[in-house]
Amino acid sequence: MPAIRDVLIWDSERGDAERGDIAIGEDGRISDICPPRSAKRDILFDGRGEAAAIPGLVNSHTHVSMTMLRGLAEELPLMEWLQKKIFPVEERLLPRHIRSGAELALLEMIEGGTTCFADMYYFMREVASAALSFGMRAALCRGLTGDDSQKINENLNLAEEFGGREGRIIIQLGPHAPYTVPRDALARIAGIARDKNLGIHFHWLETEGELEKFKEKYGKENVSPSDYLEGTGLLDAPKLLLAHCVWHPVDELERLCRPNVTLVHNPKSNLKLGSGYAPLREMLKSGANVALGTDGAASNNKLDMWDEMRSAALMHKGYHKDPTLVSARDVLRMSTLSGAAGMGFGDVGLIKKGWQADLVIVDISGPRYVGCGESNLPEFLVYAGDASDVRATIVAGKLLYKNGRHLTADRDEVVAKAREHRQEIMK
Ligand SMILES: [Zn+2]
Repeated sequence: MPAIRDVLIWDSERGDAERGDIAIGEDGRISDICPPRSAKRDILFDGRGEAAAIPGLVNSHTHVSMTMLRGLAEELPLMEWLQKKIFPVEERLLPRHIRSGAELALLEMIEGGTTCFADMYYFMREVASAALSFGMRAALCRGLTGDDSQKINENLNLAEEFGGREGRIIIQLGPHAPYTVPRDALARIAGIARDKNLGIHFHWLETEGELEKFKEKYGKENVSPSDYLEGTGLLDAPKLLLAHCVWHPVDELERLCRPNVTLVHNPKSNLKLGSGYAPLREMLKSGANVALGTDGAASNNKLDMWDEMRSAALMHKGYHKDPTLVSARDVLRMSTLSGAAGMGFGDVGLIKKGWQADLVIVDISGPRYVGCGESNLPEFLVYAGDASDVRATIVAGKLLYKNGRHLTADRDEVVAKAREHRQEIMK
């Protein structure tokens, strides 16, 4: 039986870590957690007491293929960035570019210990097939704009073809945003989601301008942002990922506090596009399920959950002048269990017997980790850790990456092909 040997294992439920071995069953689930060095054979990784194991990191909002557009437009506000720079290039993208961008993103995410991601884009067969071939877990949707039955059908076909594949792919419906999808179409999509038991992934009030436009349009009808989400039926979808929520009224956060609804915080993208500070303190206080995401690489510009965790933990302390809020443990939970649960992976995000063996092995032997131990692992990881500390990335018990080497992909080949495709796009 494969095992991870002699690592400091983080137990999020207990709130501390303990040295031990993690045994993994044939089904890719954790079959046992046992005393250190009790596993003798089939060792996937030997931590020698100098590495830690945490649940795989979960990136709950991204557009992986946008790695092909990284650096294309910098230092612009969201609407200008999107409409003048991003949309025109996106019109030229072909399936092979989407595939290349996805593979580039998967390399970066796997190297940084991300094991699962929620993605919205188009030509999503390419993304699904790349995720399967690289061994990742993902919740994917076809981005829907306008009232477009053809796009909805594409999304539904995706569900038929890939939904549940190897237990690693969940297909959701992807209405893009309230400013790109009419209210009636949203209601129709929400109805389909309920009928077909599919989750929804949606951008929600990312910028202040969106909230202003929303008020202009719906203020007369006395429809508040929460009324709108409720009225369209989005809040009743089997699962709902609401990306950003930067401008959702704080006094209405409690209305998003439902077991099927997840708010996805994207601190670095919000900072870079100048969108503002999401009310993370209040989101957490409301009891809502809150997850963390990077957004696409054209607006971040990294797909690095370590950077994201650190930004989330730091920026709200500064903004509110209060070092006690948004703890390292909060952001680690947001980046593991809360994200996985929000997508519908109910057995991902804890190192626990019977749960999926989605794990990251982190080297804690270096200078930045002196003093790291059983009681302070999340604080060391979030405040002092770095993606470059990742030594192994494991999904469903399978090693995807170990000691700087990819085991499911040819790194050089992916990068070379992506370079070629980038040139094609920019011609
Ligand atoms: Zn986005």
